[in-house]
Amino acid sequence: MKKVLITGAAGFLGSHLCDRFIGEGYAVIGMDNFITGDKKNLAHLEQHLHFQFIEHDVTEFVSIEGDLDYILHFASPASPIDYLKIPIQTLKVGSLGTHNLLGLAKAKGARILIASTSEVYGDPLVHPQNEDYYGNVNTIGPRGVYDEAKRFQESITMAYHRFHGLETRIVRIFNTYGPRMRLNDGRVIPAFMGQALRGEDLTIFGEGSQTRSFCYVGDQVEGIYRLLLSDYTGPVNIGNPHEISIKDFAEEIIKLTGTAQKVIYKDLPVDDPMQRQPDITLAKRVLGWEPQIGRAEGMQITYNYFKGLTPDELYKSEHKDFKNHIKK
Ligand code: NAD
Ligand code: UDP
Repeated sequence: MKKVLITGAAGFLGSHLCDRFIGEGYAVIGMDNFITGDKKNLAHLEQHLHFQFIEHDVTEFVSIEGDLDYILHFASPASPIDYLKIPIQTLKVGSLGTHNLLGLAKAKGARILIASTSEVYGDPLVHPQNEDYYGNVNTIGPRGVYDEAKRFQESITMAYHRFHGLETRIVRIFNTYGPRMRLNDGRVIPAFMGQALRGEDLTIFGEGSQTRSFCYVGDQVEGIYRLLLSDYTGPVNIGNPHEISIKDFAEEIIKLTGTAQKVIYKDLPVDDPMQRQPDITLAKRVLGWEPQIGRAEGMQITYNYFKGLTPDELYKSEHKDFKNHIKK
């Protein structure tokens, strides 16, 4: 039985990856420190014979007993509000955390896939973004903590590949959504759905002319799974190229949820990218992958998930309390 370590396992993508690898017959070790994740996302796997969970901060030395075939490094705050609130942890998990996991992969002879992001392209001047574009990132802006940690993560991963001959894979993930996103993580989909369900106005940042392209989690997991098992070592974009402005997206959510509320406008966050759309030519060619689930279907599934939350969960709208995780 092949063994895989998944960091960030209690988060949105990490928990779906645990499900996928368990479903494929792997022994899975999930690792997380719960800084932005939730135990609830893994509750259904707790008793599974081939699932083990280790509570650990990956910025500290990572030790695993026995063999390991694969590592998927997904630990990192991922929402702009999260990483603005915990900037040092964000930089550390992308840099020190990645270094620890590359060292572990080298010691075990394991293949490692790291979760990079469309944010490595910053506020892109090339549209759509393909893997050859170097990006337009403000290193010292508030988002720089995430973007630069991820860019460093890609660099150190390629250095381990070139210098140590380590088997590495890099996925550049574009906005992905679905069940188990944290309702109050501040990202646009949980934000709009939470607002609709609580009967609040939908908050559009800026004029809403900025664009995003949303990928359903099932499609994203399929792309990641294929990339891990492929021979391709360069970075690969995985995302859904169907682009929409945030203003039009708010209208879609209003129709989907039937809310009687309106949209209100708030300040655009600093360095918020004005356009984002993945060029997935490479993923199609090397992985034979493209998304299968359209936005209407994916949003309906996601809305059904959020509708199923308890009133407690729905009204606990204040942002996650990071106090317990922050060391002096
Ligand atoms: P998430 O916040 O739901 O999950 C991240 C998980 O990592 C959480 O469970 C958190 O507790 C854990 N974590 C953070 N720091 C840790 C540490 N030091 N040690 C151990 N665990 C730690 O976010 P997500 O959307 O599931 O994102 C997962 C990964 O995918 C991240 O690396 C993110 O950068 C990347 N990504 C996600 C998206 C997206 O649209 N969802 C887009 C681009 C990249
Ligand atoms: N956004 C918005 N209202 C919200 C939350 C987000 O208009 O309540 C905008 C945000 O400014 C950005 C887009 O929606 O332009 C996507 O934001 P998100 O935080 O989901 O992720 P990003 O793609 O910026 O990392």
